[in-house]
Amino acid sequence: MKCLLNDWRRTNFAKTTTPEISGEKVTVMGWVHEIRDLGGIIFVIIRDVTGKVQITAPSKKVESEILEELRKFRKESVVAIKGMVQEAGKAPNGVEIIPEEIKILNMANQPLPMDPTEKVKAEIDTRLDSRFLDLRKDNTSAIFKIKSRMLHTIRDYFYSQEFIEINTPKLVASATEGGTELFPITYFEKEAFLGQSPQLYKQMMMASGMDKVFEIGQIFRAEEHDTLRHLNEAVSIDAEASFMDDVDVMKILNDMLIQVLNDINDKCSNELEILGHEIEIPKKDFPKVTYDEAVDIVNSNDVEMEWGEDLSRAAEKALGDVMGGFYFLTEWPSEIKPFYVMPYENDESKSHAFDLMYNNLELSSGATRVHQYELLVKQIEDKGLNPAGFGSYLKAFEYGMPPHAGWGVGADRLTMVLTGSENIRECVLFPRDRHRLTP
Ligand code: ATP
Ligand code: MG
Repeated sequence: MKCLLNDWRRTNFAKTTTPEISGEKVTVMGWVHEIRDLGGIIFVIIRDVTGKVQITAPSKKVESEILEELRKFRKESVVAIKGMVQEAGKAPNGVEIIPEEIKILNMANQPLPMDPTEKVKAEIDTRLDSRFLDLRKDNTSAIFKIKSRMLHTIRDYFYSQEFIEINTPKLVASATEGGTELFPITYFEKEAFLGQSPQLYKQMMMASGMDKVFEIGQIFRAEEHDTLRHLNEAVSIDAEASFMDDVDVMKILNDMLIQVLNDINDKCSNELEILGHEIEIPKKDFPKVTYDEAVDIVNSNDVEMEWGEDLSRAAEKALGDVMGGFYFLTEWPSEIKPFYVMPYENDESKSHAFDLMYNNLELSSGATRVHQYELLVKQIEDKGLNPAGFGSYLKAFEYGMPPHAGWGVGADRLTMVLTGSENIRECVLFPRDRHRLTP
């Protein structure tokens, strides 16, 4: 059958089909991006993962059977072409391929649900409904190439610092951590939940003696809000380290992000150019602003904020306008942070918790954790929760839990920063929000 690969294999990609190899025979495979039939000559642009290459078929040079096949091409069909490379100043990459053999591997139905050439622009909902087609656009795929590189660099960084990668369960028995709504599920004859974060598990790992762990995994939050920075399923990059405090893990987060920024600049310059986005690399460590200072800044910029309140959206914006770029927000009131956060020894109303912000976007929350059993039980009770629901977590604190600290970074939010995206949905392949559960 003509639609099977059989012994056909790619010899070249668009990117490797260059004037230097003119005169050579190549096999390229990809999607039909554009067809122009001028009668005496047919031009076809083929798109693959690396870019675009032009097929040029003058009727004088190319067999009529090949011309007939080319005329059957439909936009976005998958094709394979064998032919001779020839220099061509005006074509992409400065070359064209004169076709000698053709396979139509799979024909695309017409009309297409959206136009990947963007001659007709589509709304985000239409694009997400046909995400596979949307991803054929170089500006959409650039985001996910950058995200992939980001995760690669982050793993490299963690391994270089001797962190151990872990995977903790996402099916959990109780809705204990607080701070967000959870998705209940049916677990055989019981009710269970989708995990809101690996927090309690990565802390239990501190009692394992493995010292430093990280996890890159899904988190689920049943929040109803519909914003440009929240989804109901997100990816969290979590780290936890023993014998360290908040200052130590802020330094780790700072160093890791500088490595990410440098690496994306180096390795993804093409993708950044496609997106028209520039990455500025801070020369010094990220500045720190205390919660107290933040309250003053916010109030002096005509947004009301009382001490002890979480930052409203307006407060985040006011603070972001003043601070700009990456900055840590430290010394949070204990009241608005979770039970596992360590209070200051001399002033229990304040805690060793921090957030990392980029302009007005929260990227990460972290803290020194409570490692003392009695204090932990007290803080659970103070938050109006029942320690009985924390049996297996608390047990890890009874038999030798070291002091520890950690943080969680939203991978999708970090991708927004790296790609200059305004909407988190741009940075998730198949986003889950209040209205979307498919595809
Ligand atoms: P926010 O205040 O912005 O709702 P949060 O304080 O509830 O965030 P944390 O529980 O601190 O979030 O989670 C750690 C990080 O995970 C956040 O800083 C953010 O980067 C990311 N994150 C949390 N919730 C979501 C979400 N619903 N969608 C996308 N990313 C999220
Ligand atoms: Mg937070």
